[in-house]
Amino acid sequence: MKYQRSSQLFKEASAVIPGGVNSPVRAFKAVGGTPIFVKKAEGAYIYDEDGNRLIDFINSWGPMILGHAFKPVVNAVVDKAKKGTSFGMPTEIETKIAALAISMVPNVDKIRFVNSGTEACMSAVRLARGYTGKEKIIKFAGCYHGHSDSFLIQAGSGAVTFGSPNSPGVTKGTAKDTLLAPYNNLNAVKHIFESNPNQIAAIIVEPVAGNMGCIPPAEGFLQGLRALCDKYKATLIFDEVMTGFRLAKGGVQELYGIKADLICFGKVIGGGLPVGAFAASDEIMSFLAPEGPVYQAGTLSGNPLAMAAGYALLEVLNKDADVYDRLAEKTAYLHQGISKALKRHKITHTINRVGSMISVHFTENTVVDFESAAHGNNDQFKKFFHGMLAAGVYIAPSAFESWFITDALTYDDLDFTIAAVESVASKL
Ligand SMILES: *Cc1c(COP(=O)(O)O)cnc(C)c1O
Repeated sequence: MKYQRSSQLFKEASAVIPGGVNSPVRAFKAVGGTPIFVKKAEGAYIYDEDGNRLIDFINSWGPMILGHAFKPVVNAVVDKAKKGTSFGMPTEIETKIAALAISMVPNVDKIRFVNSGTEACMSAVRLARGYTGKEKIIKFAGCYHGHSDSFLIQAGSGAVTFGSPNSPGVTKGTAKDTLLAPYNNLNAVKHIFESNPNQIAAIIVEPVAGNMGCIPPAEGFLQGLRALCDKYKATLIFDEVMTGFRLAKGGVQELYGIKADLICFGKVIGGGLPVGAFAASDEIMSFLAPEGPVYQAGTLSGNPLAMAAGYALLEVLNKDADVYDRLAEKTAYLHQGISKALKRHKITHTINRVGSMISVHFTENTVVDFESAAHGNNDQFKKFFHGMLAAGVYIAPSAFESWFITDALTYDDLDFTIAAVESVASKL
């Protein structure tokens, strides 16, 4: 495949946009080479500026769960756009999507819409602090909750300790309020609660992790977090920006039958437009302005185009009783095929999968947290990525990302992908 035009466009972009991209992972830094510029996309495919067709396993990092340019979403957006694109005044569509989302997700009475997953997580933490009157939060190494200051904190050499910022610009003052634990490690969390009496406002967690590859919660992990939050009167925040409306209608709460206090959304809930949201019980949400004292606002929040897109997508997901089973079956089929192909060529690997999220790790150990995810052979991943790309299959340009399966994928597409793995594996 040729990427002359993408290379030229990247050069032009780099002259006026830092690193040539508006979000870092798009820049191919982890795999080398030049990012591919998209011309258009439809269903399971991306068509790039050089005229190649690629099977897409990123799907805008999750939102396009039923495929690109999904007709009901496109039609809803076009209809709305003709009537004005933003008012800064209430519209009925905001109530409609709120009511629909609440009906699909367990344990929530009210929902507030924002413009990104970052905003959702940032606001949820502020609300948790306002509600509990406490200041510190616990997060897990390798979990991503957007780029707001409190979340850009990394673990100190495996130890559970005060975090140090992993980005310049995040102050030590902010970092000291974010406490870190390894994912799937309940004892570490228990220890943090014990050594910070009456100071923990919230635990924020990806209840199925998706930002260090896909990592399922260990048996009892989420239940344990719930119990610790109850014991120490902290709030449990499920960051379901990735998993919400993807793993089940009601997300991980439904999938594993666990009740969170605050739930963050993004990605699927916006149908491919910039949307985030956070939801909770009446009691917690009543702390939010204008009803309560915790401030949160947005000029474009609840934007009519974005709400129409999200509503159209959620409506289809809500009505289709089989969609999540179908997605899980396709993902399991892919898992088996990839596994067989890699085994045949004696490539050491671990594949993690939950529902329609899957990740391939080039390591022999099980991948249960950031440390084990980081053991993967990155050189092998780079070769794998570029090999797949050359074969016409686009996976995330980083070993630390999940693949997102869309229902637009046919079994022919999956067979094509498995054949590509087979051929790439023979050269790894
Ligand atoms: C993508 C993601 C975010 C951030 O959402 P943005 O819309 O990119 O700001 C937060 N949390 C999780 C779990 C995510 O996957």
